[in-house]
Amino acid sequence: HPVIGVLALQGDVREHLAALAGAGALARPVRRPDELAEADGLVVPGGESTTMAKLAVAFGLLEPLRERIRAGMPAYGSCAGMIMLADKILDGRDDQETIGGIDMIVRRNAFGRQNESFEAAVEMAGIDGGPVEGLFIRAPWVESVGAGVEVLATVRSGESGTHPVAVRQGNLLATSFHPELTGDHRVHELFVAMVRAAARCAAAGA
Ligand code: GLN
Repeated sequence: HPVIGVLALQGDVREHLAALAGAGALARPVRRPDELAEADGLVVPGGESTTMAKLAVAFGLLEPLRERIRAGMPAYGSCAGMIMLADKILDGRDDQETIGGIDMIVRRNAFGRQNESFEAAVEMAGIDGGPVEGLFIRAPWVESVGAGVEVLATVRSGESGTHPVAVRQGNLLATSFHPELTGDHRVHELFVAMVRAAARCAAAGA
C-alpha cells in the first residue's frame, strides 16, 4: 500500500487524514524531512498559506518538498494547499514562499468580502457520480495556467466571470475548495489513484 503523507505544519490535517483513510489509503502526518522521505504522495491541507510557508521554512521542509515534487512525487493541495503548489501567487504577503510545481498563477482570497465563504455544486472532470459539494472558505482562484495544466473545474463569480477552481498538472492536483470537510471522498480517491499509478510506474522503471 502506498503511504500518503499530510503536511502537518498548520491547517486541517486531521480532516485530510480521515478523508484519505476513507479513500482506502494509509495516511500519515508529515512534519520532518525523514517523514516526507517515507511518503509516496503528499496532501498539503487547507489553512493559512502564509503561516504554512513560514513553518515550512522554519522546519527545514521547503527545499525537501521542492525536491520531492521536482522528482515526481504526487501531491494534492486544497485551498491554502493550492496556493502552496502554485508557481506564482497574487495578493500574497511580501516574500511569501510557495513549494510550487504547478505552472499557474493563483490569487489568494480571490472571491472577496461579499463572498468570503460559500458553497457551490462543482462539476469536476475525472470525478464521476455528479457534482462535488464545493466548500469555499476565503478561497483562492486560479488566475491563469500554463499550457501543461488541465483545468478540471470552474466556478462563476458574479461580474468577474468564470475561474478555474480545480487543476491538474501531471502528478499534481489542486482545488480551491475543501473536499476533506464534506465526507465525500471522491476527490481523495482520485488522488489515491494518482499515487498508486505513480508507485506502479516507479516499480516498473526500477
Ligand atoms: N486564505 C487562506 C490562505 O491564503 C486559505 C484559506 C483556506 O485554506 N481555507 O492561505
